[in-house]
Amino acid sequence: MIKITLPDGSVRDYPIGSSSFDIALSISEGLARNVLAAKVNGQVQDTNLPIATDSKLQLLTWNDADGKSTFWHSSAHLMAEALETLYPKVKFWVGPPLENGFYYDVDTNGETISSEDFKKIEEKMLELARQKNDFVRIPMAKTEAIKFFEEKGDEYKLDLLSGLDDGSITFYKQGNFTDLCRGPHIPNTGFIKAAKIMSVAGAYFKGDQNNKMLTRIYGVTFPKQKELEDYLTLLEEAKRRDHRKLGQELDLFTFSEKVGKGLPLWLPKGAMLRERLENFLRKAQVKAGYQQVVTPHIGSKQLYITSGHWEKYGKDSFQPITTPEEGEEFLLKPMNCPHHCEIFRARPRSYRELPLRLAEFGTVYRYEQSGELHGLTRVRGFTQDDAHIFCTDDQVEDEFKKVIDLVLYVFKSLGFEDFSAQVSLRDPENKTKYFGLDEAWDKAENAIRRAAADKGLKTVEEVGEAAFYGPKLDFMVKDALGRKWQLGTIQVDYQLPQRFELEYVGSDNQKHRPVMIHRAPFGSMERFIAILIETTAGNFPLWLSPDQIAILPISEKFEDYANEVFLTLQEEDIRGYVDHRDEKIGRKIRDAEVNKLPLMLIVGEKEAEEGKVSVRRKGEGDLGSMTIEEFIAYAKTEIYKNIPQFKV
Ligand SMILES: [Zn+2]
Ligand SMILES: [Zn+2]
Repeated sequence: MIKITLPDGSVRDYPIGSSSFDIALSISEGLARNVLAAKVNGQVQDTNLPIATDSKLQLLTWNDADGKSTFWHSSAHLMAEALETLYPKVKFWVGPPLENGFYYDVDTNGETISSEDFKKIEEKMLELARQKNDFVRIPMAKTEAIKFFEEKGDEYKLDLLSGLDDGSITFYKQGNFTDLCRGPHIPNTGFIKAAKIMSVAGAYFKGDQNNKMLTRIYGVTFPKQKELEDYLTLLEEAKRRDHRKLGQELDLFTFSEKVGKGLPLWLPKGAMLRERLENFLRKAQVKAGYQQVVTPHIGSKQLYITSGHWEKYGKDSFQPITTPEEGEEFLLKPMNCPHHCEIFRARPRSYRELPLRLAEFGTVYRYEQSGELHGLTRVRGFTQDDAHIFCTDDQVEDEFKKVIDLVLYVFKSLGFEDFSAQVSLRDPENKTKYFGLDEAWDKAENAIRRAAADKGLKTVEEVGEAAFYGPKLDFMVKDALGRKWQLGTIQVDYQLPQRFELEYVGSDNQKHRPVMIHRAPFGSMERFIAILIETTAGNFPLWLSPDQIAILPISEKFEDYANEVFLTLQEEDIRGYVDHRDEKIGRKIRDAEVNKLPLMLIVGEKEAEEGKVSVRRKGEGDLGSMTIEEFIAYAKTEIYKNIPQFKV
């Protein structure tokens, strides 16, 4: 007998050689029907493999990330089978799962596959799925495997095989389709009940542009038709909210090929939005004891050799700028931390000054491959709402908690309610990726765990996600569409203070090394605004909205009155514009709605006579007429009700 430990900690005895499927069946028939794969001692595998020793077992269903990805990878095989049936000359490279769906890179061998063929492929996939063909695992000797693909004439699989060791090679067969694959897969194709081919694109073999261009076919599948429908609806909604589209429509930012890829240009309305966010954080930071600093956009290469950035990221960064006369080398600043370390070093420091909290909206530049660039979320130049806290060892945990408070304040003020936190740890198996001693890492990781627990945060731990200089606490929010976004981050660092030889004089008159905390509640202004656009669909909270009001005169006769109202409101810091166009009022209202204007003030004869405005609120409709004073009182309450004061 073997002992199987289940995720809830319970231990059960099973005959040696029982499969995960047998175990699922012993628990319940319903579970056995839904189990897609199994995690045995941390390794995902087929459910029919026998288990030979005492093991930890997690049965994976559609609700587990590993279950989904096994499902989608298996669907790539199913799509390949459909393709081979429809286009017998097709050759196959690789077909991995994605976050949502899967793709297969194929050499169509002269055939064209376009969106017109998608339906045909989907139907063939479902037809094959209904045959409920088992995914059969077949261990293969290397010579046999080579012979198989030589006979088939598939040079891509032969290429894959050349890198594999004899004894480790497996084929998987479902129906009439055989693929070289290490697995795992779902039990049979019958689990796949809905299929959609999403798109087709060119992709170089092995990502190398000197190689042949293959065809990448993207698909997604589901265990229920309804789930596919929901997914497609969600995609539509996500498209509607896409910050690249809304950013353009709302006049917030633009890009210019001439300025350069991945370098956003902020338009007046976007700049205003950004400035408001900065001021909001700045105000809270003053209360929390931060001091603003300003540092240049470049720094000498030596600075980054000292910090270690050159060693870890130098090759992937923008390459040094050289001065014409002296030949000195400078880097576009990829991070603000080294500059701030030098500010700390500018003069001797005493323990009385600590914690020293230096903040800067610091613009940094990082090289991203052009294919990786995406709107405001992946750019080459961006501004971090950065700060570095220099403190004593004893202050770390307390400071960390204060930063958590600040981050939560930011989220609350912006209506991000569904969030979680991830403790990003070092990968102990791969220590060369990181600087520093085990002891410092343990200390920092434990300080983060304790601070997060103390603040009642729901956390998950991720091994291998730490920065090279220290562990992190990363915040994720979930939007209305269930998408997860990474926002702010807090990081503890024992390494940079050492590399920069930072010191302060303690109460004992001895020299000590401070600890550094890096933090950015927004993360970066660019990314944060992108997320804000997508989560709000461009309907910003009133206090942030670039224009809060639009004054809409019914005809040009009431222009003067409209201007008068506008000036009065401007005096009260309520911002917006008068729609002076010679358009019908219906058109003006519609346009203001398209521009997501929160408040519309309609003025005509009656309003002008009585000194009033007719108020319409986006999403609420007509609020009736108000005197200017009444409107000011209303607007102010509405503007400020969502931004509580930050309390230290
Ligand atoms: Zn496979
Ligand atoms: Zn930093």
